[in-house]
Amino acid sequence: MEDYISQLNDAQRLPVLQKDGPMIVIAGAGSGKTRVLTLRIAYLMQQGVDAFNILALTFTNKAAREMKTRIADIVGQSEAKNLWMGTFHSVFARLLRMEADKLGYPSNFTIYDSQDSQRLVSAIIKEMGLDKEVYKYKQIQNRISSLKNSLITVRAYFNDADLQEADAMARRPRFGDIYKEYVERCFKAGAMDFDDLLLKTNELLNRFPQVLAKYQERFKYILVDEYQDTNHSQYLIVKALSDKYQNICVVGDDAQSIYAFRGANINNILNFQRDYDDVKAYRLEQNYRSTKNIVEAANSVIEHNKTKLDKVVWTANSDGPKIIVHRLMSDAEEGRYVASSIFENKMQHQLDNDQFAILYRTNAQSRAIEDALRKKDIPYRIYGGLSFYQRKEVKDVLAYLRVIVNPKDEEALKRIINYPARGIGATTMDKIVVAAKNYGRSLFEIIENIDQIGAGIHTGTRTKLKNFATMIKSFQVMEETSNVFELTEHVIKKSAYLTELKKDGTQEGISRIENIEELLNGMRDFVEGQKEVDEARGSLAEFLEDVALATDLDNDKGDTNRVSLMTIHLSKGLEFPYLYIVGMEEDLFPSAMSMNTREELEEERRLFYVALTRAEHQAYLTYTLSRYRWGKLVDAEPSRFLTDIDDKYLEYTTPPDDYRFKSSLSDHLWDEPDKSKLRQSKPKNGTPPSVNNPSPEQLRKLRKLRPVASASNKATLLMT
Ligand code: ATP
Ligand code: MG
Repeated sequence: MEDYISQLNDAQRLPVLQKDGPMIVIAGAGSGKTRVLTLRIAYLMQQGVDAFNILALTFTNKAAREMKTRIADIVGQSEAKNLWMGTFHSVFARLLRMEADKLGYPSNFTIYDSQDSQRLVSAIIKEMGLDKEVYKYKQIQNRISSLKNSLITVRAYFNDADLQEADAMARRPRFGDIYKEYVERCFKAGAMDFDDLLLKTNELLNRFPQVLAKYQERFKYILVDEYQDTNHSQYLIVKALSDKYQNICVVGDDAQSIYAFRGANINNILNFQRDYDDVKAYRLEQNYRSTKNIVEAANSVIEHNKTKLDKVVWTANSDGPKIIVHRLMSDAEEGRYVASSIFENKMQHQLDNDQFAILYRTNAQSRAIEDALRKKDIPYRIYGGLSFYQRKEVKDVLAYLRVIVNPKDEEALKRIINYPARGIGATTMDKIVVAAKNYGRSLFEIIENIDQIGAGIHTGTRTKLKNFATMIKSFQVMEETSNVFELTEHVIKKSAYLTELKKDGTQEGISRIENIEELLNGMRDFVEGQKEVDEARGSLAEFLEDVALATDLDNDKGDTNRVSLMTIHLSKGLEFPYLYIVGMEEDLFPSAMSMNTREELEEERRLFYVALTRAEHQAYLTYTLSRYRWGKLVDAEPSRFLTDIDDKYLEYTTPPDDYRFKSSLSDHLWDEPDKSKLRQSKPKNGTPPSVNNPSPEQLRKLRKLRPVASASNKATLLMT
């Protein structure tokens, strides 16, 4: 057995070796929080704690898998596999399956992804005859989601005059009715959306004391990574489960809290000590990830936020190169710059593609970068776009499988009932929806019994409906004796889905078929994999659950030697030797939508802190003078965050021949050139800072922005 304890520094060792009681580790980026959590689990197991009694909650399922592998190296595979580890959603989906009947759900309930939820909301708005310009389905779905995450059920909503008034003021007086209908329809469809996975877990633990007691007993040790980004619903689950034994260990970094817009609540960190008795608080201060330049630059950024806990982050690593700031004319040029820079670094330092990452604020920025990478033949992988499982053809096939497992699943049924075309049109479906409402039944039950019900549908169409029901039932019979792979192969042939795809001879059609093949490959892997890991798992329902909860960070198959592209939000917890943060411009980063209040701006700044602290060796920051946004070329200004970084960590490398910059910005610059600061930035090409090469001080003047650091206002709630 390896001596993993010696791989920890003194400060890290303390929380690992404290076996019992509540503890919190608040520490800066790269200081080993995740490592502490991982090794703590290994240590607990070596102290005789049964793997079955440990629950670990992570930000992605990929992170959970990596932790498990590491733990397996120490304690052995056979023990490690019994750990309950994963995201809140995947862990509690699994728990809900075992207890679903108590809440009136089938154990094979469907999980609606956000696309399914949006489609349902959109259908309801239409059925209720509401104006879709006023009742925008995405906004409505967001509101439903945030109510659920605050545990405000339909009943609670209707008991709260303020909430209703807020919606009336927003010209959406019928919101409550939509919410009610949405919840009922999900229930009738035997479906839970993402938020339900947390909401229903809370309901289960609240309403059934014996169930709560059972899981308190089961999860004697609970660990949570990235605790700063838990929302209220998640907080309550953890609180309830850990209440009896109080063996709870949470790790996080208030400076990396970046999901407030999704309801994450920083108070969960701040109040931890109040919530449990005798909490031990640990701090880690040494960063192992990054060079001194990067660590100190990141410190100088977060220093500008007022709301934060006092923390020290230092590193014994070498200084490393300065952070390169590079200005470009346009987003296309930015893409080319990044691609060439990666190419050069690879050549010069003999690096692999996977040592590079490119981070951006919004998904739309990836296109220009992708174009440039392709031209240079640099393989890349985008995370967080449309995940594989959300592609239309893949979702269609999965919809067949969903209906087989749970025929009540309304969204899946609507997807496939007339695809491929079976002569069951929209009018027929409208009639079925109405009948389902009248009879209080699912769509499938109406279809099955269409002869008795009639529903104003003529005989020819009824036959088509019955044929459809018969086909689904034949698939259900097959499901009992075959695995996911065999079943799916059968389904796509028998349903004529494959034939339909093959009719389309275009390149796009061909790539659709390839995706279906890829799906089948994935299924074969799943079948093989499940046999090894866990005899009891491996059913179609479990496959669908994995798929519904897969983020595409999880889907790391195939050739992994690629440059990673992702939004900053997704990059949390990851690290890369070479890092490019692109689009460092006002209105983009910070985002135009997040500059109205200090709180919003500070969240954007934390986002920048997260981005910068992903870099191990070298970071690049790029900004452009113009960029295509919403199809229009707009002028761009350098981000205020560039001026947040202390000048001494930066190197400006922009070439000096930049006419646009002169014309658009020089007026201000020439107002009052600060000569004393001009020498501070040393461009590679030897040109002194000038209009073409502004020093941070100049940028600051340019936008008359004052840093907002204020030592007296720092929160010192925890680290006293
Ligand atoms: P983040 O806040 O970004 O999630 P973190 O605090 O979770 O960061 P880790 O990811 O656990 O930090 O650690 C950062 C890097 O430092 C990892 O590569 C880890 O292996 C390494 N590391 C952590 N502690 C040590 C140590 N004591 N000795 C050597 N390397 C370490
Ligand atoms: Mg971490």
